[in-house]
Formats: sequence, C-alpha cells, structure tokens
Amino acid sequence: MSVHRSPFERLREKFDESELRCPECGYVDTEGGWRVTTSGGRVQYQFVCPSCSAVETREVRLE
Ligand SMILES: [Zn+2]
Repeated sequence: MSVHRSPFERLREKFDESELRCPECGYVDTEGGWRVTTSGGRVQYQFVCPSCSAVETREVRLE
C-alpha cells in the first residue's frame, strides 16, 4: 500500500499535533488551529491568541 501525501498535508499534521500555546500569556488553545496561508513555495501559519490577541506566526518553506 502506498499513500501519497503532499508535503503540505504532512506539515499540517505536524502542526495539528503540536500544542497551541500562546507564548505571551500561556493560554492553551485546545480547539482552535493554525490559520494557514500559502504563497509561492511558502506556507505561513498564524495563530491569534483569543485571550491576549498575541499573534504567533511560523513560516515553512516547501522544497
Ligand atoms: Zn495569549
């Protein structure tokens, strides 16, 4: 059996598994998720803390 998944999907799984914890106030979001935007060869993940509105951004390059 072979399962072909895009790098994007693998990345998404990785982020979904990681805990969303606000670095500013320590709020842990158990239901929310990263907002994902793609442009060119980059994927940008953004999380806005519902508690203090801090914005956490991570950018990943797709090879
Ligand atoms: Zn926060």
